[in-house]
Amino acid sequence: MTFTNRTALVTGAGRGIGKAIAEVLAAKGVTVICVSKSAESCGAVAAAITAAGGKAVSRAVDVADGPAVAVAAEALLKEFGKIDLLVNNAGITKDGLLARMSEADWNAVIATNLTSCFHWTKAIGWPMCRNRWGRIVNISSVSGLVGNAGQANYAAAKAGMVGFTKSIAKEFARRGVTANVVAPGFIETDMTAGLSAEVKAAATQFIPMQRFGAAADIAHAVAFLCAEEAGYITGQVFTVDGGMTM
Ligand code: NAP
Repeated sequence: MTFTNRTALVTGAGRGIGKAIAEVLAAKGVTVICVSKSAESCGAVAAAITAAGGKAVSRAVDVADGPAVAVAAEALLKEFGKIDLLVNNAGITKDGLLARMSEADWNAVIATNLTSCFHWTKAIGWPMCRNRWGRIVNISSVSGLVGNAGQANYAAAKAGMVGFTKSIAKEFARRGVTANVVAPGFIETDMTAGLSAEVKAAATQFIPMQRFGAAADIAHAVAFLCAEEAGYITGQVFTVDGGMTM
């Protein structure tokens, strides 16, 4: 995988999958802007990357806050000159059966998982198009592909990311900017740490590989889609789930 003088912005880089994506890209020589909600988590990840010899900075930005994203993106584009790789990874769950799901929980999940992609892609995607080179990877979920009882808000947001990505892939294709989706299955992170042993055991039964994946499994797929060599791949959904939805 070739990365020449590339700068990446990774949202949700303070923990879990986003942290692994930031680490893998930094290990390949990419300068990484780590974004998360709290300054502490993305700051610690950027500091660890820097201590290991990589290049990283951190910014605390609420990805659901459109004006805050626009201000942060403008400042970062000024500071770095360009951002070549955008990974929309920040996400939350607020699970519950539809009958008991509040409108607030619906709105929070749509805003953080889906509308955040609109904000960041608007702010950073067009400058990529002007540069005639860019890679956008949006982290969806198998829930968005096959649905999941108790996750109507999350599955709707994650399915929305697929339609959004395919649309911008068509808009940006002529300008050398690709856009793809990575859809993880069950991955060992804080997001799944709260699942009970029974739920984990039940989920594992449906995974041919009989185990949850690691954050690094997702990060390597993302890195491939961000590399020079992936320039003819766009508008695609890559499921990384141990065979669960094949
Ligand atoms: P995680 O461990 O809960 O980490 C989530 C990250 O997103 C954190 O760094 C958090 O920031 C950040 N974040 C949340 N809300 C934010 C906001 N409003 N503004 C800015 N940053 C925000 O989650 P994960 O398991 O790594 O999941 C990463 C992505 O993969 C999500 O989109 C998730 O839906 C998707 N995914 C995960 C799994 C899985 O099994 N884990 C499966 C399928 C899809 P702080 O650190 O500041 O809290």
